[in-house]
Amino acid sequence: MIEKKSDSLCIWFFENFLKYEAIGHFISTRIGGHSSPPYDSLNLSFNVGDDPEKVLKNRTLFFETLGVPLSSLTTAKQIHEGHVKIVSEGLRGKGSTDYKGAINATDAMVTNVPGTCLMILLADCVPILFYDPSKMVIGVAHAGWRGTLQRIAQKTVVVFQQHFGCSPQDILAGIGPSIGPCCCEVGREVVSHIEHVFGAEQECISRESADGKGHFDLWTANLKQLTQAGIPKKNIETSKTCTCDHSDLFFSYRHKRGQTGRFGAGIVIR
Ligand SMILES: [Zn+2]
Repeated sequence: MIEKKSDSLCIWFFENFLKYEAIGHFISTRIGGHSSPPYDSLNLSFNVGDDPEKVLKNRTLFFETLGVPLSSLTTAKQIHEGHVKIVSEGLRGKGSTDYKGAINATDAMVTNVPGTCLMILLADCVPILFYDPSKMVIGVAHAGWRGTLQRIAQKTVVVFQQHFGCSPQDILAGIGPSIGPCCCEVGREVVSHIEHVFGAEQECISRESADGKGHFDLWTANLKQLTQAGIPKKNIETSKTCTCDHSDLFFSYRHKRGQTGRFGAGIVIR
């Protein structure tokens, strides 16, 4: 990924997506916004207890800087499950200026409607962006450990195929900053759940200790899902940046013990 600074803001981009002028995309950071601690400063979520006026100021500043109309921003009430929503024209702008208007109970969105900016919000969960330049279809997925175990990345690819007629070989994907295997310690029960879903392969679970705890590698677990769904490895860019180790740059739920803001990951067909 590469970092670009613009006025007060600092925004990250996937190099494989930047080659395409037909789309815009971003991973926001926490730098340059208006919110006070513990939401300092570019918190983009209306659902974490921050002052809504400040969140609106942050979103306005961020999307003005990107050159994307705030009215096109489409967000969801994320619930850590595996549902993928197809965003039609009528849903454009849902949740752009408040939480209650956001699309209900979904953790991934897919659309082919131009001028519809899909955004998910994060603090340690994995953001995954999708783009099929051949069929002009975009998508976002929010994959925390629960969503990863529900195979939300794979389910998103299935929607590209079944609803939009895409071939997985054409799809590009970006796996953004999230909690890394270094910091994602999970308990014995989650370890057995992971082994049940992904098999007891060491790639997804590492450093298992005597008490049954392990470290979940969300990047590998999601990469595997994408390649198993048929996306070529060369089409997938993985940031490998741990949000918990870089909590000065990205909001991290674990680092701040729950009291923090959310950064955004989004994509739009221009
Ligand atoms: Zn880490």
